[in-house]
Amino acid sequence: MQIFKTKDALKKYIKKERKEDKSIGFVPTMGTLHIGHLSLIENARKSNDVVVCSIFVNPKQFNNKDDLLKYPRNINKDINLLKRQNCDILFCPNEEEMYPGDNHQNKTSFYFGDLDKEMEGKQRLGHFQGVATIVNKFFELLQPCTAYFGEKDFQQVLIVRKMIEQMDMKVKVISCPIIREKNGLALSSRNERLNNAQKQEATLIYQALLKIKETASKVSVGEAKKIAENMFEKSHLELDYVKICDENTLKEVKEIGTSNSVRAFIAAYIGNIRLIDNMAVR
Ligand code: AMP
Repeated sequence: MQIFKTKDALKKYIKKERKEDKSIGFVPTMGTLHIGHLSLIENARKSNDVVVCSIFVNPKQFNNKDDLLKYPRNINKDINLLKRQNCDILFCPNEEEMYPGDNHQNKTSFYFGDLDKEMEGKQRLGHFQGVATIVNKFFELLQPCTAYFGEKDFQQVLIVRKMIEQMDMKVKVISCPIIREKNGLALSSRNERLNNAQKQEATLIYQALLKIKETASKVSVGEAKKIAENMFEKSHLELDYVKICDENTLKEVKEIGTSNSVRAFIAAYIGNIRLIDNMAVR
């Protein structure tokens, strides 16, 4: 596996690959890789000549300094995992490389319609501008044919698609299913910060999503939401939101109609660690 830390070195290498008409599949990550990330690499491996993974803890998408400082990092382990997964290129730049000089010059403003008005956009101000800024920079640099994102961050997938449309880019986005622990907990780098008891308790998020899926066609959407919210009352998890939304607009639905694709979303804190998860309801 080739490891690049600078844009110039990466660009030079990619230019050579592109001349040979090779297809480039890209998986952006913030590292501390787990099987969820590796499933994206595996998908990219199946359909591309060259697989590029980036590891960059993007400061611009953190609205909470403490969360950024405590974000787990484990580059040596990540490199071994990527090698085993037959990843071709790892791009792991530092902050100065991606945001050189005055930060203000790096502030692009993207328009997401209403997609960033709710859920993670509402709770983490500036988060999606930060995500779009770095993904846009990576796409411009690499010009991948296809980029792979996890449905774990479902809202992020829609945001990236909107950014591509706005910037008139030619990158195809493939969204990949959520990989979970046997007990249902969605894999996340932030799980590293949970102790075993907390990991067990956090499965409540999955159980609540399952409950919504199970009840949503039998009771009203409002009742299904209430049932899920109540499940958190006697737990150590502090619920942030439960939303039952149209998958395309992310607007809350009033009923599970026959035509719309509906997905339930939950965010909750355990200690001061924020966990998110979602599940298709129909
Ligand atoms: P992150 O390192 O958290 O920025 O995640 C990098 C990519 O991996 C994003 O597209 C995430 O949605 C995806 N991802 C994270 N956790 C999972 C998971 N449990 N299953 C599938 N994809 C995931």
